[in-house]
Amino acid sequence: MSILNDVPKQLFIGGKWLDAEGGATMPVDDPATGEILCQVADAGPEDARLAEEAAVAAQEEWARTAPRARSEILRRAYDIILSRTDELALLMTSEMGKPLAEARGEVAYAAEFFRWFSEEAVRVDGGYGVLPDGRNRMLLTRRPVGPCLLITPWNFPLAMGTRKIGPAIAAGCTMVFKPAPQTPLTSLALAGILREAGLPDGVLNVVTTSRADKVIEPLLRGGRIRKLSFTGSTKVGRILLAQCADTVVRASMELGGNAPFIVFDDADLDAAVDGAMIAKMRNMGEACTAANRFFVHSSVADEFAARLAERMGALVVGPGTQDGVDVGPLIDDAGRAKVEELVADAVGRGARVLVGGATPDGPGRFYPPTVLAGVDQGSQLMDTEIFGPVAAILTFDDEDEVIRVANDTPWGLVGYVFTAGLDRSLRVSERLEVGMVGLNTGLVSNPAAPFGGIKQSGLGREGGRVGIDEFLEYQYLAMPVK
Ligand code: ADP
Repeated sequence: MSILNDVPKQLFIGGKWLDAEGGATMPVDDPATGEILCQVADAGPEDARLAEEAAVAAQEEWARTAPRARSEILRRAYDIILSRTDELALLMTSEMGKPLAEARGEVAYAAEFFRWFSEEAVRVDGGYGVLPDGRNRMLLTRRPVGPCLLITPWNFPLAMGTRKIGPAIAAGCTMVFKPAPQTPLTSLALAGILREAGLPDGVLNVVTTSRADKVIEPLLRGGRIRKLSFTGSTKVGRILLAQCADTVVRASMELGGNAPFIVFDDADLDAAVDGAMIAKMRNMGEACTAANRFFVHSSVADEFAARLAERMGALVVGPGTQDGVDVGPLIDDAGRAKVEELVADAVGRGARVLVGGATPDGPGRFYPPTVLAGVDQGSQLMDTEIFGPVAAILTFDDEDEVIRVANDTPWGLVGYVFTAGLDRSLRVSERLEVGMVGLNTGLVSNPAAPFGGIKQSGLGREGGRVGIDEFLEYQYLAMPVK
């Protein structure tokens, strides 16, 4: 596969491709076979320090660059990404497992963050005002927060990168970018594209590592990184927030979810099943937005479950590179073992397996689309992100009751509500403790909308008009006028 040969496998620091200290490397494998695809540089703390130094050195000049110039770099990168859709999709599928069609969809979604933020780069505004005393004036300007640390997960290898890099470039920040160790190749390819698009040396520095804890902590405690943007588990998010505290690093956090998917008795069941397929099965269920708990009104629960089981059972499971495959492998053995454990626990508490539920023999980390009905509320999957193709269905009879149970979780990223009633749509959405609601739809992600959660699902928003704010600071100038 030429893209695998062509993609850089070294660290990208100060505009140069460099080996890690001591020539250390780490393997990247194919989740569909378990085979090792290649080795990439495995950075240590000294490499990270060099990357930080490059970002710090480039910051002042980058902040002075004309917004239009930053905008045009992003726009060029957008064009290059789209022109390489097939190669990037294949790279993502190889290291992450998702079916090619989904990978192509992610390329378009990921590129759109660059187009969106190329447009936002030239719309950063300021202000002038007369203060209430009538004498003092206020001048407001906005400027980049400074060198950033960006940390991303493996589930959307391209989009999680562009969603952070796009606004950082638009705002005039330099950065150290640490992608997940499972999916470094897509991020390295992205760095190559940005370089081609004209990004100055040192603005983006990419550090791939299998030793995230050792590499990241010194940066967060070192006092030169001014901003952390993290997407990953709530567990790691908490650790990083604590590390940010000492030097008061600004932090944006996109953490875990535990999305409720609520189907009322007046819902259009065709739309609800379609929505469920997307909310559950996008990315094999490996998404923080994945529907984790299905609450279906008891009068329609059997029909909804039967229809969902039929659709889930018809999906083709296999390597993502094969034509016609709908569901690829899970990312790694630990991810699959967790799904198996959650299903066993739910079944042990009385859940019925309508389809799936058994791990196939053979190589690869495959797990079949699974529907569980009659799930007990005490099951572990009620408060654990499944991160796999398992739909857990519970029933309810009363609106107040379902809202109470849906909110009974420390997370608050997204909720899905299916109902024909406008009043009920708004009433329930307003009462759900989440940052995003899918109303009669199973897909909320869109670069033009603010993505993010409340409670322990995170801090801040990515995308939308507010996405760039996370990378900007206000400066207020006071001036009395006689
Ligand atoms: P997941 O369970 O989806 O892999 P994680 O939260 O473990 O989610 O990982 C998300 C990102 O955080 C990855 O890039 C990972 O390498 C990184 N990471 C994990 N642990 C740490 C840590 N202690 N310090 C910094 N980054 C970390």
